[in-house]
Amino acid sequence: MTTETANCVPTTGLDELGALEAAVAELESRPNSQFRTVGDPAAELRRRAGELGAEELFQRAELLLASVDLREGRIGEGGQSAHRVRAWAEEHHSLHLLARAHRQLSLFYRYVGDSADGLKHAVESVAHMRDDWPVTMRAQLLMSLSVALEESGSRAEGARRAREALALTVAGGDHENTILALNNMVYSAYEVDDEATARAMVAEMHELQARTGHRFGANELDTMARVELMGGHYDEVEALLTPVLADLVAANEGDAIAECQLTLALARRLAGRYPEAQAALDANLRICEERGLAAVRARIREEQAALYAATGRYAEAYEEHRAFHTETTALLSAQRDARARALQAVFEANEARRASEHFREMAHRDALTGLYNRRYINERLPALLAEAAAGGGPISLAIVDLDHFKRVNDTLSHATGDSVLQNVAELLEEATPGPALAARMGGEEFLLVFPGVGPEDAAVRCERLRLRIRAHAWGPITGTLPVTTSIGVTTSLDGLGAVKTLLSQADRNLYAAKHNGRDRVVADTVI
Ligand code: GH3
Ligand code: MG
Ligand code: MG
Repeated sequence: MTTETANCVPTTGLDELGALEAAVAELESRPNSQFRTVGDPAAELRRRAGELGAEELFQRAELLLASVDLREGRIGEGGQSAHRVRAWAEEHHSLHLLARAHRQLSLFYRYVGDSADGLKHAVESVAHMRDDWPVTMRAQLLMSLSVALEESGSRAEGARRAREALALTVAGGDHENTILALNNMVYSAYEVDDEATARAMVAEMHELQARTGHRFGANELDTMARVELMGGHYDEVEALLTPVLADLVAANEGDAIAECQLTLALARRLAGRYPEAQAALDANLRICEERGLAAVRARIREEQAALYAATGRYAEAYEEHRAFHTETTALLSAQRDARARALQAVFEANEARRASEHFREMAHRDALTGLYNRRYINERLPALLAEAAAGGGPISLAIVDLDHFKRVNDTLSHATGDSVLQNVAELLEEATPGPALAARMGGEEFLLVFPGVGPEDAAVRCERLRLRIRAHAWGPITGTLPVTTSIGVTTSLDGLGAVKTLLSQADRNLYAAKHNGRDRVVADTVI
């Protein structure tokens, strides 16, 4: 038995990494509304991950902090960190992280008024998404795309993603995100002045709230206030938004307070309460300037112009309107191309994904036989061992080497040798069903990996393979020259131990097989 390899991995380090990973995952799964509880633990986890050199966990914690920055109004800082995490995730093919980083970047660009780039990042985020990801995460990515699409004028497309997100959250029993999805759909109905649909969905939100004890956040209250605005219920608007402005309700997005102030200003103007409307606008201007919220900032100008006009200050209304126009022209010129560029982005993101998958697959395969190559094994084997260790199960390795292969090349031809290698590769594929793997490590030497397979079973499988190869119909290829193999097998009973140690043990067994006359299997000797 290869017991000398046991306990090579310092398990305390693994335990701490596992605990760290679980803690990061828990923070990632916290609902939006709890963003205020994320910052401190995320900073601590980032520090610890840095000390342990756990780079991916460090980046995940960094992205959590970026999302807190964005939501607490440190828009520039949040955007910069999200950019750095995205670059890291791309370089390290970390798909979850890449999708999440693009989502935060989408939020960042929307806040600063660049809805075109906001859309581009939302599209990329969803392009990286896989069907087997957790429901909540997929729903969040789809919702971000939905909002970004609607903001840049693609309403139907946006609505489709919103419905997909809603279906996911309902099926997954995720109440918080179900309410969020409904909220987004209500806002869309408001924007097309569809009061009946909006009210029906607000009723659903209330019904869910009553059932789950969910507390509405600033975004949701603002949406409901907009619905009241449609019906001309200005007192209701005031009643809904007062708790938000008194800071009694968590504002769950970076621009939620500003949106609420704007809704309030609008309601007050329509109700003829002009000084209060002006107060709301003044307060809002400060928020937008502090936080760099260019998109809401432009809409404040528009509302200011309307307020001036309502109070008969036409010259100022005109000036304000011009300022609004100048500001929005810059924003809108970016938006005009948004849809075309978004389509381009969808195309490019999908193409890039397909190209990189193809490339990765190619980079992992041996050109002659189509088996996995040594590079793939070097990358994959440590993980397979770790999986076995985590599950407490065995894993067996076998090195298969052709006997006197030089003779085939020398007496027949190199092309014949190639053909033999290809035929052997097919037989190796057959011998490695399910989770087992076959790889060409170089020349006429192959590695088989059998996750979950213990020593006896591994020896039996290799013996069967040896007989299968020697019995193959080689006549048409090599004439009278036989093709046989020697195989060295070894097993780690619990997945513990270093890859290198296991491979050397298999190699020692192979050497013994060659030494004892070839065309045989040698497994570990049980002590
Ligand atoms: P042993 O039983 O001791 O393994 O003898 P052997 O002849 O199989 O081993 P040796 O290592 O001496 O020779 C391996 C040969 O494999 C040498 C090389 O020409 C041949 N070879 C390596 N790669 C390829 C290949 O891609 N195609 C062909 N046709 N031959 C290859
Ligand atoms: Mg050989
Ligand atoms: Mg060899």
